[in-house]
Amino acid sequence: MESQPVDVAVIGAGQAGLAAAHHLRRRGYAPLGDTAGPGPSMVVLDAEAFPGGAWQHRWASLRMGTVNGIHELPGYEVPPADADAPSREVLPAYFAEYERRFDLAVQRPVRVRAVRRADDDPLGRLLVESETAQGAKTWAARYVINATGTWRRPFWPTVPGQRTFAGRQLHVHDYVSADEFAGRRVVIVGAGVSAIQLLDEISAVTDTLWVSRREPQWDATGFDTAARIQAIAAVEERVRQGLPPASVVSVTGAHWSPWAQAAKDRGALVWHPMFTAIERDGVRMPDGTVERADVILWATGFRADIAHLAPLRLRTPAGGIRVRDTRADDEPRLFLIGYGPSQSTVGANRAGRQAVRAIVADERARTAGV
Ligand code: FAD
Repeated sequence: MESQPVDVAVIGAGQAGLAAAHHLRRRGYAPLGDTAGPGPSMVVLDAEAFPGGAWQHRWASLRMGTVNGIHELPGYEVPPADADAPSREVLPAYFAEYERRFDLAVQRPVRVRAVRRADDDPLGRLLVESETAQGAKTWAARYVINATGTWRRPFWPTVPGQRTFAGRQLHVHDYVSADEFAGRRVVIVGAGVSAIQLLDEISAVTDTLWVSRREPQWDATGFDTAARIQAIAAVEERVRQGLPPASVVSVTGAHWSPWAQAAKDRGALVWHPMFTAIERDGVRMPDGTVERADVILWATGFRADIAHLAPLRLRTPAGGIRVRDTRADDEPRLFLIGYGPSQSTVGANRAGRQAVRAIVADERARTAGV
């Protein structure tokens, strides 16, 4: 099949992909089809039908006042929004305006199915094979910036007896609102921000039991602490070694926001150690007792959505991809952003800038014949 040459293909138009696209535009890259001139070209491919990345799917009760501290995209502030406004409405509208304002020409819905090497030439092209509304299409890119996030890969741990449970099990990925649980006993699993937020709202309408493998870490000092920097450095080291990345929030812990403090004050944040098995009507606790449950809500995080990179064979035996300063160690034409240490809005912004800087430096060296 014929492929369309492009200098940089960005896969994904969430926070990370848009940040990268913005920096590419600033460095003179123009969207394919742009008649402005002969400069280097870029294309941004996104699987969603609408702008907003994962934000458009977050549950309705996640408000601008309760998101875990978002960071705006580079060069354009989030317009003031009511703290009560749903983040899944405000942020997609902001992303849409951002794409328009900076002329990022995102192509959607375009799902990338595979990225593979065109040939054995290490300076050759990477083929980005996709499925568009009009059929299959392939781009031949000098560089690929992968920014595909985690939303489509909710993580469910395996626990003995999981299939025997007579009640309902769901992941936060599929959470709609607390009202659907009224009158039912809900076990919430997880120690991250989502678990605590959902515990807060579900415990206001029904009986809950909160469990997690590790006791939640509460950061009393806010976000910009040495501990946070250290935690991010630890995730960075994991991805350098090719280990599967841990989420940054899982290592930084949650902070005492006003809503979390209020939940604690009304006695909603009572933590228990993880159950050891699931039974038909409940969960077996480490002391052998069975706690009744109608619903188990897994707030157990997400994994990187990178199956389309499999043809590049970059997975280490430990299950991760070796990444250093956003670049894949074993495929220097590939950058992973919003991955590992950059899996937050501020991290995604920085990673987008870092990847583009590296590409610009490589291109200078290449065109100078170094
Ligand atoms: P996404 O926003 O998921 O964007 C990825 C894009 O890539 C999507 O549009 C997707 O359709 C597209 N895509 C995926 N696969 C393909 C493919 N094969 N082909 C083409 N396109 C593809 N971080 C914060 O800093 N503050 C918060 O308050 C916060 N709250 C969060 C709440 C929840 C419930 C979760 C799960 C995460 C939260 N995060 C938060 C972390 C958040 O994931 C990041 O901050 C950031 O929004 C992720 O941006 P991203 O661009 O990496 O991914």
